[in-house]
Amino acid sequence: MNCIFCVAAVETRDHIFFECTVASSLWSALFSLNGLQFKHHSWDAFFDLAAACWKGKSPLTTIMKIASNALIYTIWKERNKRLFQSQSSTVAEMFIAIKELIADKKEDPKERARLGLHSKQNRKGRHFFSIALNA
Ligand SMILES: [Zn+2]
Repeated sequence: MNCIFCVAAVETRDHIFFECTVASSLWSALFSLNGLQFKHHSWDAFFDLAAACWKGKSPLTTIMKIASNALIYTIWKERNKRLFQSQSSTVAEMFIAIKELIADKKEDPKERARLGLHSKQNRKGRHFFSIALNA
């Protein structure tokens, strides 16, 4: 089966979540929020980085896990929407959905408490986010 987004390549895990122009646009947009370039173009390369860098419960780890999960979830949801409901969203709409998922997770009081997030840590977290992704 070919990719539902670009139709130009076979649908593989690496393709739909990293290589496809839709996925790489979303990752690049997410990274560029922090002035960074996205360089991990496969599932294994990305999760090797995640496993190496995002340990424990630091604000960075928390934010990166939420953001990565939100992005992957949004791509999979959009893929299924196109495939099974013949509906589609633009990349811009998908990016808004990702940011809303991140915000929802961070704004839920129980979730925030569980994650040890408060406003000061969020600001610090964004700073750490930039540093770690540059490494
Ligand atoms: Zn594609």
